[in-house]
Amino acid sequence: MPEHILVLGAGFAGLELATVLSEELGDDAGVTLIEASDSFVFGYSKLDVMFGYAELSAVRLPYSDFAKPGVRFVHESITAIDPETRSVTTDVGTHEADVLVVALGADYDYDATPGLADGTNEFYSVAGAERLRGVLPTFTRGRAIVGVCGAPFKCPPAPSEAALLLHDHLSERGVLGDCEITLVMPFPTPVPPSPDTSTALLAAFAERGIEFVPDRRVASLDAARGVAVLDDGTGLPYDLFLGVPKHRAPDVVLESGMAEDGYIPVDSRTLETRFPNVYAVGDVATVGVPKAGVFSEGAARVVASSIVARRRDREQPDGFDGRGACYVEFGSGLVGRVDVDFLSGPKPTGTFREPSLELVAEKKHFGASRRARWFGT
Ligand SMILES: Cc1cc2nc3c(=O)[nH]c(=O)nc-3n(C[C@H](O)[C@H](O)[C@H](O)COP(=O)(O)OP(=O)(O)OC[C@H]3O[C@@H](n4cnc5c(N)ncnc54)[C@H](O)[C@@H]3O)c2cc1C
Repeated sequence: MPEHILVLGAGFAGLELATVLSEELGDDAGVTLIEASDSFVFGYSKLDVMFGYAELSAVRLPYSDFAKPGVRFVHESITAIDPETRSVTTDVGTHEADVLVVALGADYDYDATPGLADGTNEFYSVAGAERLRGVLPTFTRGRAIVGVCGAPFKCPPAPSEAALLLHDHLSERGVLGDCEITLVMPFPTPVPPSPDTSTALLAAFAERGIEFVPDRRVASLDAARGVAVLDDGTGLPYDLFLGVPKHRAPDVVLESGMAEDGYIPVDSRTLETRFPNVYAVGDVATVGVPKAGVFSEGAARVVASSIVARRRDREQPDGFDGRGACYVEFGSGLVGRVDVDFLSGPKPTGTFREPSLELVAEKKHFGASRRARWFGT
């Protein structure tokens, strides 16, 4: 009997981990992948849905298309995790593991920001993006705020992308002259590890008259008066609010005793937790890299290689290098790219590639290649 590998969560990390293990070990992989949702949606597709560039049905990737030798996909909701015994309870039953990999992502803590109701004025969940898609066409004048309610948050460039795409959207509808856009972010610059990317984004904001409010987060919303209250007490009136909710690990992770300061601490190189044969990968872990799909995927590959090496009695792989490339929507139909390196040097570094049509095609390929690799579609 091969050892039983239980992978919790089929997002970027879980999908890549199960795929590599299946490729390397085939029918003997011995993987069970547990996931509560019936479909996967790329994070950036939420922007496409919100701005009406894509229908939800076109960006939903049903897990029924995920079929890999040696991997059993289980559609269940995890209700408890015991990292000591590597046993997992779901709404259907229990699963025991020789190796447990927690890849449950980051959840949203709507209650941490009074006034930010679940899915009504945030674009980080599929439901929220879909709802705002219906609201955007009704916004014809006044101030729109793209506001971040806490750090860390997924895909640090995404709020900047939302502000630039909102500018395009208002321009296309001919209402730009009557509207203002303000972006509130708890960072000194839009993408701190890459000064060049930040400079390019700040220039794009200045060109379009988008106001950037650095080092601040939205602490609460007074929806009745239409005022966003920042963490220094400043009140910013708004007519449209596009929010990034505060993040935290899913409840089941917080209740498992594995988390510290909201997420699961791991060895950044090996992704091992303090519990033997228990790993945590992706947004659910504190790795020292931003919360983004590319890093979740990269970390998952390291864990998969490590499991394969142990099974085959081979040398352990090099550790996770914390490198990744993120595409950044710059508006006007162009995409830029930032290549970041978080773990190999004394401090994070980033290299910027100017927005271009070539990068639009590259981003498309990024999505299409994962879709083909994971879902065969
Ligand atoms: C607007 C936006 C734009 C983004 N753009 C990019 C981008 O351009 N590039 C990029 O790299 N990243 C981007 N991201 C970030 C990216 O989507 C996430 O960082 C990535 O999905 C994290 O992968 P993960 O596997 O760690 O977690 P997730 O992909 O969140 O997967 C976790 C999985 O666990 C499941 N789960 C959770 N709780 C349970 C439970 N109790 N039982 C069973 N299953 C459960 C969830 O349903 C989910 O499928 C963006 C995110 C947003 C919101």
